[in-house]
Amino acid sequence: MLTSVIGFPRIGANRELKFALEKYFRGEIEEKELDALAKKLRSQHLSYQKEAGIDFLSSNDFSYYDCLLDTAVMCGIVPARYRELSLNEKDTYFAMARGYQKDGRDVKALAMKKWFNTNYHYIVPELEDDTQIKLSSTKVFDEYEEALASGSETKPVLTGAFTLLSLCRYTGTKKRDDYLEDAGEVYAEVIEGLKKKGAKWIQFDEPSLVRDLSGEDLDFFKRLYQKILPAKGDVKILLQTYFGDVRDAYEVITELDFDGIGLDFIEGKQTLNLIKKHGFPKGKKLFAGLVNGKNIWKNRYFETLEVLDRLKGEGIDTVLSTSCSLLHVPYTLAAESKLSGEYKKHFAYAVEKLEELKELALLAEEGEENRKKDESYVKNVSLFNEGRDCRDEEVQERLSKIKESDYVRLPERKVRQQNQKEALKLPKFPTTTIGSFPQTSDVKKNRAAFRKGEINSQQYKEFNREKIKRAIEWQESIGLDVLVHGEYERNDMVEYFGESLSGYLFTEKAWVQSYGTRCVKPPIIWGDVSRKKPITVEWSVYAQSLTELPVKGMLTGPVTILNWSFPREDISIKESMTQIALAIRDEALDLEANGIKIIQIDEAALREKLPLRKSDWNREYLDFVIPAFRLVHSGVKKETQIHTHMCYSEFTDIIPAIDNMDADVITFEASRSDLLILDALKECKFETETGPGVYDIHSPRIPSTQEILGALRKMLEKVPAEKLWVNPDCGLKTRGEEETRHSLVNMVEAARLLRKEA
Ligand code: GLN
Ligand code: ZN
Repeated sequence: MLTSVIGFPRIGANRELKFALEKYFRGEIEEKELDALAKKLRSQHLSYQKEAGIDFLSSNDFSYYDCLLDTAVMCGIVPARYRELSLNEKDTYFAMARGYQKDGRDVKALAMKKWFNTNYHYIVPELEDDTQIKLSSTKVFDEYEEALASGSETKPVLTGAFTLLSLCRYTGTKKRDDYLEDAGEVYAEVIEGLKKKGAKWIQFDEPSLVRDLSGEDLDFFKRLYQKILPAKGDVKILLQTYFGDVRDAYEVITELDFDGIGLDFIEGKQTLNLIKKHGFPKGKKLFAGLVNGKNIWKNRYFETLEVLDRLKGEGIDTVLSTSCSLLHVPYTLAAESKLSGEYKKHFAYAVEKLEELKELALLAEEGEENRKKDESYVKNVSLFNEGRDCRDEEVQERLSKIKESDYVRLPERKVRQQNQKEALKLPKFPTTTIGSFPQTSDVKKNRAAFRKGEINSQQYKEFNREKIKRAIEWQESIGLDVLVHGEYERNDMVEYFGESLSGYLFTEKAWVQSYGTRCVKPPIIWGDVSRKKPITVEWSVYAQSLTELPVKGMLTGPVTILNWSFPREDISIKESMTQIALAIRDEALDLEANGIKIIQIDEAALREKLPLRKSDWNREYLDFVIPAFRLVHSGVKKETQIHTHMCYSEFTDIIPAIDNMDADVITFEASRSDLLILDALKECKFETETGPGVYDIHSPRIPSTQEILGALRKMLEKVPAEKLWVNPDCGLKTRGEEETRHSLVNMVEAARLLRKEA
């Protein structure tokens, strides 16, 4: 059986691309050096796959920032404001991704959004009415040829035209239909071009097909590909889907002239049924996504082979594939020098998944008798038969005792909000930040030195206390109303909590790209989770001891902790999440008992795992996610103010659920998106006090006071004055100190001016 990989991570096993890009952005290296490193990484990634014996390797899965942005650029989708900067191709691209503020020119970055149900972010391309879609980049050809020159025949990968046009933002009056002809033409030209260069297969990624699709969507898809596919001639086209099943589109896509169809058998709950019900067309290859591209647990060979046997039984020409791009898992277990073999044997990162593909493909060709004699099979079966040591009786006991009333905070919010106004005595339009302050190199060095044992815990703490002290003094000096301690002790917040909770495993090198140059290192939920001792209390109490102003306790909520971890596959997400909620509840109550009056429980990732299909929203997510959050804070006193923070404001469609989290205040990203969310909040009579971010923290650009004031005035049209908070979009850890200082000074000043006029 042949094997295929949808895409490979590109940031580098040691995040080489990240560091090189950052150097390039700081002007420390030339374009040539950056390109050379990129080339080296591409070749390295292909050789992992070649060595493993994978048959369908991808090219063009590399990107300097984001593949969707690459595809947009390929189609010439570059808004005028970036073209007008008259930069070279690469810097125009980076200006779109990161914004541009130099030589008196000042352009914001394009919006960024979560890529389907992952923690990866894509750049949202913008289509203007006068955008002329035409083939405008040679990247896909170059990377195909580069791979070929080094001896790898690859399938070039592109985001498909349907997904591209579905994810674009349309800034004028034109709609996707108006671009069908031109977009179709570009893709047809790409096929022609690749054909000339000798490509045998081309992969179009169309994850938008796993969403709810209307008849109109399907018709659009059909017309688009009727325009594209005639160009193919001898080249074979693989339509690749992932992140779910294609229940609405199955019939349409199987009728079109694709040569291969890639379906997700991991997240696609109905994939097998669809095949059973409608059959799979003869003469086409099914790329069966059976090796999980998102999680790090070893594949259960027994179950996978069962599916492969069934497909074989149906006479389907099957290629074994990953369920999605391996972009979402770390590189290799070989880099985990500290994790013991007892744990490691249960995991597979990207490189190990290549081996799994190969082993499974070989096993799939064997009969049952031979499989039982095969070492890889025997080893895998016994691994799962052995079981794991992951149960904690105390946690189980506590779970069984949760009552309905544990999910309800009293008195009701309206009453509490009054109590809190009296207790906290905050001014109108209170100013605050989201929690983290710039993680300057000294902060990182201190943490690293402690980790490596170069300094002791006393020294480590002393340094952070000094940082906290300065942060508090500085926040007081610029006039912020609600302070934070700065989160200097945290690298990635979820990793931080994971490390302090039992039931968690942490890794050394399990980096996964989150956006552009940013990576996260999701911890692994190994077993039942509990909190053995206070985690954040000491820092918060110290920070609060330095000031009369309230300092927010800073926690990460159970939904985000779970969504940004590699979850267990042996118990339900709901059960794992409830365990985490109980652990964080203990922490919230401890903070309160130690004099912390405001506690922020970040739920940055709440929206991102909302199922892609509406019919699954409640039953498969909101029905247990919202209660998990409530369980964390239902035990605090009425005067204690509970904040939550969510990255991204795309919760227009679940506003009642967000209000139902029953937080007292919510801050969220708003500056990069339009403020339509505020209309919706108004319409739904949103009760939670609201801090829509007044400036974008994803870019180094400094907003002026007037600009922030303008944003606030607009917000005030929608949010009642007594409910409006003033804060940036998100935490400031990725920003520099200088820019942060200027930005916050301007923000506080804007709030002052607003108080005068409103
Ligand atoms: N409190 C966190 C911070 O400020 C929130 C981060 C996030 O939302 N991603 O960094
Ligand atoms: Zn955020």
